[in-house]
Amino acid sequence: MSRYDDLSPRALWWLQNLDELDLAESCASYEVTLERVRQLHRPVEHRGQTICAECSAWGGDSTDNPPVDHDQCGTLKALHPPKEA
Ligand SMILES: [Zn+2]
Repeated sequence: MSRYDDLSPRALWWLQNLDELDLAESCASYEVTLERVRQLHRPVEHRGQTICAECSAWGGDSTDNPPVDHDQCGTLKALHPPKEA
């Protein structure tokens, strides 16, 4: 059994369809995209609470939506699901 045998079907597809330069560019592009999402859903302090700027529609001193605790941001939870035990 090699690492190749343990690849997920999607990883195998990427490996079979892109050369290493394309893979490197794809990884770099996805890192940039993930950072843009994290910046959009950044933590901000609001009335003693750490909230998600985007989900709370934070405008600098008030929110247009009910404040969403940063650790309850659904987008960040989707990006970083808890590890299964
Ligand atoms: Zn959020």
